[in-house]
Amino acid sequence: MKKIVVASNNKGKIREFRQILSDYEVLSLADCNINVDVEETGTTFEENALIKAKAVYEIIGVPVISDDSGLVVEALDGAPGVYSARYAGAEHNDEANNALLLKNLQDKGDRSAKFVSAVVYYDGAKTLVGKGEVKGYILHEKHGDAGFGYDPLFFSTELNKCFGEATAEEKNSVSHRYRAICDLVKQL
Ligand code: IMP
Repeated sequence: MKKIVVASNNKGKIREFRQILSDYEVLSLADCNINVDVEETGTTFEENALIKAKAVYEIIGVPVISDDSGLVVEALDGAPGVYSARYAGAEHNDEANNALLLKNLQDKGDRSAKFVSAVVYYDGAKTLVGKGEVKGYILHEKHGDAGFGYDPLFFSTELNKCFGEATAEEKNSVSHRYRAICDLVKQL
């Protein structure tokens, strides 16, 4: 079975990749004893995913898959975008990010938003990019506590449900990351 490293230690993400990449032995960074903290200096999701994939490939030398994702809000000119994880500051804090998002949307009529994901494959020679998104809008207050990040504020028009109130299966069935992985797998 061909090995592929997913540049993450997030258990949910690794599980998602294993389900879809069933022809591969999917390894996490921890499985490979890799401890890297790559600075995401890119200005697009695709750029950041590639930076991470290349950094891990340089260490391990086997094909790597890496993803970068975030929330894009139209009325905020695309923010928080690639800065989604650190919207309210350098330290990763979902609570503060959600509060700032609600504050910045206070006087906006249009609350449409989308989650966007880029998943990159890099094997030292070939680079492939899969893309996915899921559309919806930002609620005025949190609903539920499922998922992570901005999930409790994101209402998916496809699910007709807030991600904060959706089961993992429901969210995965429409998620930006799932769609980006599927788009990538088609090219592998
Ligand atoms: P990452 O690319 O998975 O590290 O995500 C970057 C940031 O985007 C996260 O810290 C979250 O704030 C946000 N984000 C990405 N995907 C999701 C999602 O599926 N739900 C909620 N927030 C997300």
